[in-house]
This record gives sequence, structure tokens and C-alpha cells, in this order.
Amino acid sequence: MADPSTPALLLDNVVKSYGSVRAIDGVSLAAKPGELVALLGPNGAGKTTLFQLLSGLFVADSGRIEVMGHDMTRDAVPALARLGIVFQQPTLDLELTVSANLMFHAGLHGIPRAVAQARIDKELARLGLAERAHDKTAQLSGGQRRRVELARALLHEPRLLLMDEPTVGLDPQSRSDLLALILTMRTERSVAVLWATHLCDEVGDADRVIVMHRGKVLTDVVALPEGFAGQREVDREVAKQSRIVGCDAAHRQGDAPVGRCQHRERLPHLEARRRHARIGRGDHFVVDKARG
Ligand code: ATP
Repeated sequence: MADPSTPALLLDNVVKSYGSVRAIDGVSLAAKPGELVALLGPNGAGKTTLFQLLSGLFVADSGRIEVMGHDMTRDAVPALARLGIVFQQPTLDLELTVSANLMFHAGLHGIPRAVAQARIDKELARLGLAERAHDKTAQLSGGQRRRVELARALLHEPRLLLMDEPTVGLDPQSRSDLLALILTMRTERSVAVLWATHLCDEVGDADRVIVMHRGKVLTDVVALPEGFAGQREVDREVAKQSRIVGCDAAHRQGDAPVGRCQHRERLPHLEARRRHARIGRGDHFVVDKARG
């Protein structure tokens, strides 16, 4: 049984270069079980490279990556076994049925056929696709295919789900449906989710928002429940653990979805540089992790 304090994902000072380009430049971050962490950044920030390192496609030049306590380099098999991925580009075989796509994936993970069939039935029912199991994947809409990819990523019961811009090409309804599914799933199964996006409106329900810029973590933002004025203990805890930076600097970088603190007068115990932001329905605080 895994230690409940073990992070689902841990990155410690990870570096990856392509020639002279430092695509990942000393990134450290962590995701707890059941936490939805949004990874926000403009094109070229390094999100895809980070996902390639996390999914074992590339090896980091230096630093440490752990999935549920398993080192991605020394202990790759158990690390990868605890990982589910929804790639940015669709990867289903459109000529196969939905069920055959899922069974193929289950086979790659060594899941016995009968167990796999039971899980496929369960996941498709949960995702509202039970009646499409025997349809050719090509007959599904973009949003339905994305849900099949989610079902596939969950078949081997991962503890960490990587979603690389999973809503690209989806209409607004399909996007919000997919996000709603993720929110329910991460609570029900205590699966940590790393959700990469460049869309600020997708990070409103995240527990934390990490903003990447030019290969570095620019900000690591902690979300607090709505009506945070009554949440001073959490608030103090965040302040104690972190150095708070102004959002103006982040704005100048052009990435951080933060605004000026509207409630500062209600939080006299916080230092003057404190900034608060409202992203979606959550109250967020800008935390300089690099110097924290
Ligand atoms: P996008 O949202 O456009 O996919 P991203 O945040 O995923 O961007 P990356 O694709 O990881 O960013 O790119 C980070 C940096 O690394 C960029 O400067 C990019 O040009 C560079 N890079 C990425 N892949 C390679 C490669 N195979 N060879 C050389 N440079 C690369």
C-alpha cells in the first residue's frame, strides 16, 4: 500500500535541452493524489517537452522525476504503470471499433481479457458511451473520441493522469463536459491530474495552477475555496510557506492569468506585495515557487 503522503507526481530541478535550447530549465513541481493541477503556458513554454519526459518518451538531462514514488529513470516500469495519458493529437485507430481500441490498449498493459472487458464496459458506461462500444471509432464525434481516449487512459487504473491540451478542436460544450468528467473522476478515484492548456478559462476549477514560461515555472498558484475571507488559516499557511510575488510582473511576462488583489484591505495580516486573483470560481494566490 502506497504511503498516502507520497506525491502522485514529483519533479525536482528537471532540465531538458535540445541543442542550445533549454526547453525545460530547472522545473520543480508536485501533484498530490486527487489534485487537479493545471499547467498553463503559451506556445513554446515547454509543456509538450515536459509531457514527453513524464511519459518516458525522452529522458531528462538532469533532475528527478517520480510517479507515486517510483523514479522515472531507475524504476521506469512501475512509474509508467501508474500513469495514464491523453495526448494532444488523437491516437485512436479510426478503423477499429471503440471496444477494439480499448482492448488493444489493455493488452499492451498485460490486463487479462476478462478483466479488461469488465473495465471497458464500466468505463464506457461511466463516460456515456456504452451503446457505441461496437461502432467504428471513425463514426464518433470529436468529443466522443476524446472520451474514448480518456477511457483508454484509465483502463489500467493509473494514479496520475496526464492530459496534454485535451480539448484542442472540441466545441465549448464538449470541452466543459470533458472537464466535468475529470473533476468527478479525480475526486472519486483519488487520481492526480496534470492538465496542460493555454486557455485560461480551463483552469478555473483546478486545485493549483502552474504557469510555465520559457521552460521555467513562472508561478505556482494555490487555489482556495470561494469566499476566502473566512479561510484565514489556509491563507496564513500559504503565506508562511511561500513568498508572494506581485502579479504585475507576471502580467508583463504575458502569461499569468492573474489580476490585482481586490480584497487586500480584508487581509491586513498579509505582506504588502500580496496579490490575489480570481480564476473561474476560485480565489488564487500568486506564489513564487522558485524563490519560495
Ligand atoms: P506548444 O503549446 O506550442 O505545443 P509547448 O509549451 O508544448 O508549446 P514545447 O513544444 O515543449 O512547448 O517547446 C519548448 C521549446 O523547445 C521551444 O523553444 C521549442 O522550439 C523547443 N523544441 C521542442 N521540441 C524540439 C525538438 N525536437 N528539437 C528542437 N527544439 C525543440
